[in-house]
Amino acid sequence: MSYMHQWFRMREISEDAFYSIAADFFTMASVLQQVGAALAGPGGIGAPIVNHNAVVFNGPKNCGHSKTSLGLVFPAQHAGGIGEISEVEVYHWLAGNTVSHRVCDGNCAYQDFVFLRTLQERSPVEFSVYGWHQQFCKTSFKPYDLAVVAFLIIAKHHLRDEILVCPDGAPNHWFDAKHLCQMHLGYGMDFVADEDPIDMAWLEEQSRVLRGLMES
Ligand SMILES: [Zn+2]
Repeated sequence: MSYMHQWFRMREISEDAFYSIAADFFTMASVLQQVGAALAGPGGIGAPIVNHNAVVFNGPKNCGHSKTSLGLVFPAQHAGGIGEISEVEVYHWLAGNTVSHRVCDGNCAYQDFVFLRTLQERSPVEFSVYGWHQQFCKTSFKPYDLAVVAFLIIAKHHLRDEILVCPDGAPNHWFDAKHLCQMHLGYGMDFVADEDPIDMAWLEEQSRVLRGLMES
């Protein structure tokens, strides 16, 4: 399983809220570029899409970074920031590698980040629990991972209880994104990850089964 971030949202987001999210992310895009998280469009080609109805981006496919073989990548316990491969510490372990910084292996693109104002129809990977629609983005801790976390912090700020944000990793892996948002948008340090509602649903189901057993 790759390093990924997941979130749970309602099918439709109001025009006002989506506009605020897109506008704040647009502000952050140039900041992210300056710190090494260059953004591209779907598939890592062209320009990112940021408009009234959709935010879609990836890292750039033809980024110019030197090619290296990293395999599956996860952040080390104290990982943060973005680094060049020459300055990144890589620790090998059974399931892949852990790295000290977000790093590119020669292709800054991984999975497209897609956030639509209105979900059109259920995709095969999406399912809903308690009315929440699950979505995710696998980033493999590449540089654009910072932009994905920043976007989710922005979305949480504007949507509050209408989105559950469950990023992978530990709070210190989101610290730089929180800090950047705080500096440029005036919020972010208050971000706290939500509980995964799948776990909550599982607990609910377990307690229902237990109650049934005790009553029978
Ligand atoms: Zn790259």
